[in-house]
Order: sequence, then structure tokens, then C-alpha cells
Amino acid sequence: QEVEAGGEEYLFKIVLIGDSAVGKSNLLSRFARNEFDSNSKATIGVEFQTQVVDIDGKEIKAQIWDTAGQERFRAVTSAYYRGAVGALIVYDITRRTSFDSVKRWLDELSGKFLSILLSFFFDCGFDGRAHCDTAVARMLVGNKCDLENIREVSVEEGKNLAEEESLFFMETSALDSTNVQTAFEVVIREIYNNVS
Ligand code: GDP
Ligand code: MG
Repeated sequence: QEVEAGGEEYLFKIVLIGDSAVGKSNLLSRFARNEFDSNSKATIGVEFQTQVVDIDGKEIKAQIWDTAGQERFRAVTSAYYRGAVGALIVYDITRRTSFDSVKRWLDELSGKFLSILLSFFFDCGFDGRAHCDTAVARMLVGNKCDLENIREVSVEEGKNLAEEESLFFMETSALDSTNVQTAFEVVIREIYNNVS
């Protein structure tokens, strides 16, 4: 949830989700520290990083959360999603399975899995908004666009899915920096527009 102090200070929680090894941690390190790690196996152990962004002269703190390698089904806890007002759903353009997983991540983000589970046990309806009480600004990110030669998912497919699911869409490369700044900024600006 955004925190507004003195009417001028904003703190937005944004989550990074998507299959393991799609480049989430590197997108964050590229955005926050302009760094790339070619053999990032070890997770730094940091839950989130805060980056200050200027939008229309307003200072906005983007608190970006990264999974610590718990991307397996249902291993990402609801605490991770709680209070998030933005999300980057990341896949790897060279790995189709990571693209196929996007819908599952979207469902998990909107709490549908929780509600399905609850409905199963309690035989009653939940509205599937367990994790998000407000609109979440969502961006579909096709990462590793520097690897054009081994691409498995076309730009068109990414665009179509984004359109179907009402998401922003961008292809990025954490390696050569393509669109990384822009992807985060579009999400931050959208959140800002939602709350201001
Ligand atoms: P995570 O598990 O989603 O956090 O993925 P990581 O950030 O740890 O990245 C997984 C692997 O993909 C690492 O070997 C990275 O160096 C590599 N990687 C991440 N982003 C890119 C990218 O944009 N281009 C290329 N070529 N490799 C990338
Ligand atoms: Mg990671």
C-alpha cells in the first residue's frame, strides 16, 4: 500500500514474479545499481531494494521486492504480494515454458489460487482478490531480448497475451540494459496516476 507522508512522499511496493532464472534479480540490480551478474546463482538475501524515482517533480520511492529463489508453485507466500501496488511479470523470450507460466503467475498475483483452494475446502465463493485490495499496475516483461538468435517466444505473442490480460508489455535485456529503466518507470508512473 502506498504511504503518503506530508502529502508529498510516496512509497510504492512493487513485486517481481516469474519462473526461476528468467532474470528477475538481474533486472532489479540493473535498475537499482546498474549492475549485471552473468552467473548470479546465489541470491543476495535481500528482500527488496528501494530506488528513488522522480515523476513530475515528485519524489517516489519504489520498493522493489525480489523472490529469494522460492519461485516454485505456491512457494511464494502471500506476504510477498501483500500491499503490492505494482508487479512485473517476467518471462524469458528464449524459454517458452517461462512464457506458458505467465497465466499461473497472474492468477497467483490476483489471489485466484487462494480463493480456489478456499472454495474447495469451504464450498463457498471467494472473489479472487485476496492479495490485492486495489488495482495493481502490471507489466508483462519479456526479458533477454539480447538473445534474438535463440528466441522461442515472438514479440507478437507477448503483445497479444498482454492485450488479452490488460497488461503493459515490454521486452527487456538486463544484460545490455534495453528498456529496463523504462519498464520500471512505466509501472511507477501508472501507480502514481492511480493514486494521485
Ligand atoms: P531470476 O532467477 O529470475 O532472478 O534470474 P537471474 O537474474 O538470477 O538470472 C538468471 C540467469 O540469466 C543468469 O545467468 C543471468 O546472468 C541471466 N540473465 C538475466 N538477464 C539476462 C538478460 O537480459 N540477457 C541474458 N543474455 N542473460 C540474462
Ligand atoms: Mg533471483
